[in-house]
Amino acid sequence: MPELFIGGQWTTAAEGRTREIRCPADGTLVAAVDEAGPEDAAAAVAAARDAFDRGPWPRTPAAERGRLLLRVACLLERDKAAFARAESLDTGKRLVESEYDMDDIANCFRYFGNLGAAGGTDRVVDAGSPETDSRVVHEPVGVCSLITPWNYPLLQTAWKVAPALAAGNTFVLKPSELTPHTAILLMRALAEAGLPDGAANLVLGAGDTVGAPLTSDERVDMVSFTGGLVTGRRIMAAAAPTVKKVALELGGKNPNIVFADAEFDTAVDYALMAVFLHSGQVCSAGARLLVEDSLHDAFVDEVVRRAREIRLGGPFDEHARTGPLISAAHRDKVEAYVAAGLAEGAVLRLGGARPEDPALSGGFYYPPTVLDECAPGMSVVRDESFGPVLTVERFRDEDEAVALANDTVYGLAGAVWTGDAERAHRVAARLRCGTVWINDFHPYVPQAEWGGMKQSGVGRELGPAGLAEYQEAKHIWRNTAPRPQRWFE
Ligand code: NDP
Repeated sequence: MPELFIGGQWTTAAEGRTREIRCPADGTLVAAVDEAGPEDAAAAVAAARDAFDRGPWPRTPAAERGRLLLRVACLLERDKAAFARAESLDTGKRLVESEYDMDDIANCFRYFGNLGAAGGTDRVVDAGSPETDSRVVHEPVGVCSLITPWNYPLLQTAWKVAPALAAGNTFVLKPSELTPHTAILLMRALAEAGLPDGAANLVLGAGDTVGAPLTSDERVDMVSFTGGLVTGRRIMAAAAPTVKKVALELGGKNPNIVFADAEFDTAVDYALMAVFLHSGQVCSAGARLLVEDSLHDAFVDEVVRRAREIRLGGPFDEHARTGPLISAAHRDKVEAYVAAGLAEGAVLRLGGARPEDPALSGGFYYPPTVLDECAPGMSVVRDESFGPVLTVERFRDEDEAVALANDTVYGLAGAVWTGDAERAHRVAARLRCGTVWINDFHPYVPQAEWGGMKQSGVGRELGPAGLAEYQEAKHIWRNTAPRPQRWFE
């Protein structure tokens, strides 16, 4: 069956090309999928434009749009096993993690379905005159290009697709070239739920050839992108000539601050989860561990001891606790950051070399790695390695902890561990990032906004602001008793 979805039709690529998708855990062939080119991207934009300008979706009552999203949530739950398996084969992540993701994805559709169905964003404005009827209404932005990464392929897609549809937009989705399968399944679910033709379009292929035209085409009104900082800058520049609305969810180099009065076992446990979950391929990974001086030695010893036990393996290995990196190129990049860190003076406490286990030789595995005695200027501390690499820095007091935490161009997330509630709130208030966890790491809910300060992005996903991102406010002013004003007399 063809895998591009354009104007409600499944179609092959215009140039007839396909791409092999291989599981990063062992290199096995998952499938060959259609590989779109610029011609397909243009056709998808045309379909989305036509569906927005002439189709029913933008004019469908918000409550009805909301109900469709609730149906999608039910379909995602019905087909959870197939979705989770497809996600794990594409990404190499453990099946159980893909299953968790599926629950979050269904919840995301449910949240925006209910938010859309509730309506309530329009408002009457008191314009100070009984002869005026003044209202602010919220309309869809238009045609949206949705561009997503490979680490949480369907989750990142859901954060865009659900609010975009709830608000009445039409879209063209381009997932990462490495992880297309759950996007294909999602298009089937949207069609089954009854979404009108052309409202949702899918093109598969590389960023340079298929993604780029989606960011510059003048028929596109908005680009919503999740991915790396360098790509984000390119997309912002590509969108500038036609002044598109741009929403960017970029990377992070997130601090995990541990004070000496933190509950030791719990803080160690979460420090491991913060950075080694999904082998560090998480935008909010707690990759910078900042530990109070007096706690440093005991804490790092315990982190190292427990990280050594983390077993690597493929999606269906029940004993594995984390999986491979996404590609050979990505593993090379992670290795280069570790080498640079060591050259700049970091102390290797764990990992730092590819595993020797022959059972892992077919995949892109890299072990949990701990670099101690790091300093703010090191590239492994500053840049997002996006791998299982923990850098450790020491601090003496609260001011130094905050200064180190904020010493980054990023501002996505951060955490503080302490038994002192007042200090926790003081630090949380001073961290320049979009999410702060106190005595926790990684949780999020669809009701709460997610996004970054500084170079971690522009705008917010999830929460009411996540819906507003896909809306334009329009002020409609009606003079109920018009008569000449005679301004120029
Ligand atoms: P990339 O920036 O490499 O790619 C993201 C998407 O952009 C892919 O679909 C890619 O296509 C596409 N793309 C690449 N170049 C262009 C272009 N010129 N025009 C349009 N699209 C383009 O990121 P990764 O896929 O490597 O994902 C990892 C990054 O994502 C990390 O930096 C991570 O922090 C960030 N991220 C941020 C999140 C957040 O919530 N803030 C959440 C998850 C990830 P293709 O790859 O197919 O070529």
